[in-house]
Amino acid sequence: MSRYSAFAILRHGLTGNRSWPRVWREPEPKSSYDVVIVGAGGHGLATAFYLAQNHGIRKVAVIEKGYLGSGNVGRNTTIVRSNYMMDGNTQFYEHSLKLWEGLSHALNYNVMFSQRGHIILGHSPDAMESLARRANTMRLNGIDSELLGWDAVRKLIPHLNYGPEARYQIYGGLLQPRAGTARHDAVAWGYARAADRLGVDIIQNCEVTGFLRQGDRVTGVETARGPIAAGKVGLAVAGSTTTLTEKLGLRLPIESHILQAFVTEPVKPLLDFVVVNGHLYMSQSDKGGMVFGAHIEQYNSYAQRGNLPRIQEVMQTAIATLPAISRLRIVRHWGGIMDQTPDGSPIIAPTPLEGFYLNCGWNYGGFKATPASGWCFAHTIAEGTPHRFNAPFTIDRFAEGRQIDEHGYGPYNFRQ
Ligand code: FAD
Repeated sequence: MSRYSAFAILRHGLTGNRSWPRVWREPEPKSSYDVVIVGAGGHGLATAFYLAQNHGIRKVAVIEKGYLGSGNVGRNTTIVRSNYMMDGNTQFYEHSLKLWEGLSHALNYNVMFSQRGHIILGHSPDAMESLARRANTMRLNGIDSELLGWDAVRKLIPHLNYGPEARYQIYGGLLQPRAGTARHDAVAWGYARAADRLGVDIIQNCEVTGFLRQGDRVTGVETARGPIAAGKVGLAVAGSTTTLTEKLGLRLPIESHILQAFVTEPVKPLLDFVVVNGHLYMSQSDKGGMVFGAHIEQYNSYAQRGNLPRIQEVMQTAIATLPAISRLRIVRHWGGIMDQTPDGSPIIAPTPLEGFYLNCGWNYGGFKATPASGWCFAHTIAEGTPHRFNAPFTIDRFAEGRQIDEHGYGPYNFRQ
């Protein structure tokens, strides 16, 4: 009898799912690995998968302090796009989008990638100029983009507030048709299952508390379950980056801030696109809930929780933009810890410490980067030098004045 039959589901339910087959193993940590990746978020798991698949390095452990997917990969608003403008970001995020387009197939796991289109609204003539510049740059880089006038936006999303009294006047928008959303948990689970099948050990509930080192070489990690030696160590812990790098005396230009998300009760299909206005971004989940995100909190924090003033601000903006949702109830809101760099672009690079590699600085936008981040970080660790797509994402760029100044603002990634 299939394990998905009604009887089997009833039996699993009544027995606390004890006989449910595991999707990945629960291995004991070994004393040493070729590569240890710290952090079983999207980036850490993707890196382990590509290390095994692209580079044949299978003696790999991913060490996670909680359960896999408990960080930002399971807390984001799931938006995937490549509408970047700066050289460096453009090629990297477009590579990521191309990987997203084949990801369910590559992982043999449905990550529910939905290319429903992403529209940034323009709220002034100046904003439309800025959108036109972005649309043209995207096209010159071979990335799909369409500049939409007021009437075209209205045709695509008729129920936004277009009235003369609207708080956010709509002049038009920038559409990226290939952008959209993916199911965030499924991305973590898909990479975890695929990495596990290639022999990667995913070790959960095992906090990394420090590092083993010999002089300027990192030789492993100290964990809550004892030391683990490693030929190479890669850090992919998003908002917790600086709490670990300070143990190595490595100072980084990273600040941790809270970013919140909100979801309403489910309703029938209402919004076919991801829509971004000057203050928030929204989409409708496959279950029907309206999902919102906005700006980070300006204060530094390692707390994964939200606050009331931001709820009020986001709801006011959402209702002013899409008045039809004014009676919907918010069912959940939560926070994640963002790792912010000064220029809004990430770091994927070797460090001054031999055998120690960094993947951080994802700001608002690391979910969409997950496949390319894992791909490029795996290359950097395996080869000891960056892939051409992450070559600009060095640590030195901040000291050398080569910043890639394109703030990954969710609400707008450029100034309107
Ligand atoms: P995480 O999932 O946070 O993984 C890091 C892991 O490291 C965690 O599991 C953590 O437990 C573990 N860890 C930390 N310290 C230790 C330690 N000492 N030992 C062992 N393990 C440790 N991006 C987009 O592209 N689109 C969006 O729509 C979007 N919306 C967002 C909305 C919100 C509310 C938030 C919070 C983020 C959003 N992001 C979005 C950003 C995106 O989610 C992150 O940039 C990305 O997920 C970070 O990479 P990650 O998945 O590897 O991080």
